[in-house]
Amino acid sequence: MTGSFVSSLLPGLDVSSLPEREERELNLIGVDGLEIPVRVLRRVVAVGHKIQTVIAVRDQRERLKTEAKLQLLAFSDPLTGLANRTRFFDLLAVHTASRRERDQGGAVLMLNLDRFKAVNDALGHAAGDIVLRMVADRLQSTLRADDVLARLGGDEFAILQINAEEANAAAALAARIVKIVAANPFLLDGQPLHLGASIGIAIAPDDGDDPAELMHNADLALHAAKADGRGTVHRYDVSLDAKMRERRAIETGLRRALNERQLELHYQPLADATSGRIRSVEALVRWNHPDRGLVLPFDFIGIAEETGLIVPLGNWVLNTACAEAATWPDEIGVAVNLSPAQFRERSLVPLVVAALHSAGLSPERLELEITESVLLSEEDGTLETLNELRALGVHVSIDDFGTGYSSLSYLRKFPFDRIKIDQSFVRQLPYDAESAAIVRAIITMAKCLGMSTTVEGVETAEQFDFSVAAGCDTIQGYIISRPLDRAGLATLFATMRNAPHPLVIA
Ligand code: C2E
Ligand code: MG
Ligand code: MG
Repeated sequence: MTGSFVSSLLPGLDVSSLPEREERELNLIGVDGLEIPVRVLRRVVAVGHKIQTVIAVRDQRERLKTEAKLQLLAFSDPLTGLANRTRFFDLLAVHTASRRERDQGGAVLMLNLDRFKAVNDALGHAAGDIVLRMVADRLQSTLRADDVLARLGGDEFAILQINAEEANAAAALAARIVKIVAANPFLLDGQPLHLGASIGIAIAPDDGDDPAELMHNADLALHAAKADGRGTVHRYDVSLDAKMRERRAIETGLRRALNERQLELHYQPLADATSGRIRSVEALVRWNHPDRGLVLPFDFIGIAEETGLIVPLGNWVLNTACAEAATWPDEIGVAVNLSPAQFRERSLVPLVVAALHSAGLSPERLELEITESVLLSEEDGTLETLNELRALGVHVSIDDFGTGYSSLSYLRKFPFDRIKIDQSFVRQLPYDAESAAIVRAIITMAKCLGMSTTVEGVETAEQFDFSVAAGCDTIQGYIISRPLDRAGLATLFATMRNAPHPLVIA
């Protein structure tokens, strides 16, 4: 294109003013009167003897369209169309700047769904995606137009609540969200799914003055909310930093503990309800910490589960329990707790076979305890694994029964040997009529299904008498014995040799 022609297309453009070889972005006016974005490049070239100015005009419409699409993709969550983490962070930064200028408040609410993982595992990812979209819609419906909702990934959402200088405003929004998520089930193909939401709150500027700090602190508060239980809301406070450091210390310490043999097993006896005879002991892991002394599982199993360390830890427990049990009297079995993460590992069955084999322990002496949460995931694979374990001759029991989620239907499908009734029912025995009714009902039901029962956590003579009268098969609890270390166990076996039916040991 020659200079004069371009000038007629681009009124007001003095072609000679274009620097050579440098592109300029301009708008052409199309025949329809609409602007067409173009790039214009001027170059002076020699054509034969003549020096000529050549102008190249490149249509930018396609490129800009693609860029806009990419921009949208890069900053939005493809599943829900909400802002993604990057976009949320940017918006939070913009808000922070204007907040500082105008001295306004703002809150970050970080939200995680309760029970979503179970839904996703049980029904598949496609169903999980549909549920996430439904959750996004519900959340959006509770927000004001200028609040920002984002999906950070998985089942984690974030909300920027504008003008929330009062802590009450954020707390009120969080309470509304918890209610709106849990109040009505999500319907998937007509099937009701019950979810909940846990929320962490950080309010600017008190809980953080810059975007990264606010996000970090809202996240810490969310962790605390999760630890408090389902459907809870937690606001950030400085003590959470200390707790997080503590968690990290436990995580690193636990890795070392595994390598440096700081773990040990204690064993708690289970007594036959009628004869008082000890038939088996449950292996309970302890961490012999170099500075803290003996640490109980409550302080580290959860962290081991979150970090995946539970798999090597659980494998160590399995191997050690089998090896130690092989040295005990033949009639004593050993029960090992399995975490859901171990159960999900494809290698569980071969690991059990290897542990039994290298210990030289007969499979009938090993009992594996699983919790109801294991049963929620991938029913087919779970049933297969349970059947394979039982085919080996290993016993399988369901632990902490009654605390999990929709327990009863599983008992028909899954082949358990034993139901262990959770201590929370036992705590209130025998005076609380409801707990008493529940314990009796579980024992009757187990009998009908051909499963034996253990009442856990029996501490008092009344609880003991009630459990025996209700017809349970075995009793476990401090009234029989606290968990015993190696020396305590040796004493127990010696006592048993002399008096074979010790009912109260410690
Ligand atoms: P659990 O399997 O239900 O084990 C019983 C827990 O109840 C043990 O706590 C035991 O000490 C406690 N207990 C027993 N009798 C009584 C009683 O009469 N009163 C009271 N108040 N408590 C009693 P512990 O050893 O602290 O273990 C807690 C939980 O940690 C276990 O609950 C189990 O879920 C988990 N755990 C322990 N060892 C392992 C392990 O090797 N692997 C896995 N995955 N989990 C483990
Ligand atoms: Mg157990
Ligand atoms: Mg238990």
